Amino acid sequence: MKRKFKLLTPFLFLMIISCKGVSQEKEVANTSEKEIKPVYKVQKSEAQWREDLTDLQFYILRKAGTETAGTSELLSNKEEGIYVCAGCATPVFESQYKYNSGTGWPSFDREVEGNVAYDVDYKIGVKRIEEHCATCGGHLGHVFEDGPRETTGLRHCINGAALKFIPSSP
Ligand SMILES: [Zn+2]
Repeated sequence: MKRKFKLLTPFLFLMIISCKGVSQEKEVANTSEKEIKPVYKVQKSEAQWREDLTDLQFYILRKAGTETAGTSELLSNKEEGIYVCAGCATPVFESQYKYNSGTGWPSFDREVEGNVAYDVDYKIGVKRIEEHCATCGGHLGHVFEDGPRETTGLRHCINGAALKFIPSSP
């Protein structure tokens, strides 16, 4: 027994040190570029995504691209229904919260809570809130604070190609 305890002592010491290490790492991770990638429920290889998506969907969802303004068929869609992620069919927006922002991209004043996750990007040199599907990580668009004041004040500026529309009444 005595011998066992002696063997354990260095391990306990290591554990204390490594716990300290972890908490320091967290602080660093918050300020530097994120290296820890979240784990998504739906995960596929790049090759598999390429196979399952159209070129445009792949460019937007998997490469965080942006479609040309005014090109989405969903832009003028006023039908009642739900907008799901084109990558994994998770409901991300509802027709009742869609509005015409005049930007050329489908816009919503709120998301389906819990099904969309957020990040920050500096792709165009300014800080923007990026939003993506919480299930597969597919990029959807960005959120801006110039939405309708009478509701949420937020504008979810979404690529139509990242969405699929499911009408309520077929
Ligand atoms: Zn998805």
